[in-house]
Amino acid sequence: MKDAPTCIKCGAQMDAGFMKDATLRSPTGRQAGVVPQWIRGTPELKLGLYGKLVSYDKAEKLAVVTYCCSKCGFLESYAVEVES
Ligand SMILES: [Zn+2]
Repeated sequence: MKDAPTCIKCGAQMDAGFMKDATLRSPTGRQAGVVPQWIRGTPELKLGLYGKLVSYDKAEKLAVVTYCCSKCGFLESYAVEVES
């Protein structure tokens, strides 16, 4: 990703970060989670052990980087390639 963008709402500098899925917690009580991914296509919901889950074939997956404005809190997200 290029340099951090400036906020389209107020013009302040934005900080890079990520959105965390809040559904998981480790057995030790430490915060744990899953970083969202962007998937090309339409999700299909299938009933699983824990309710309806998103199902998809092998697909293009990109990481989601979210910038947060240091002044007003506006969030702006980008899908980016993940280095492996
Ligand atoms: Zn702002």
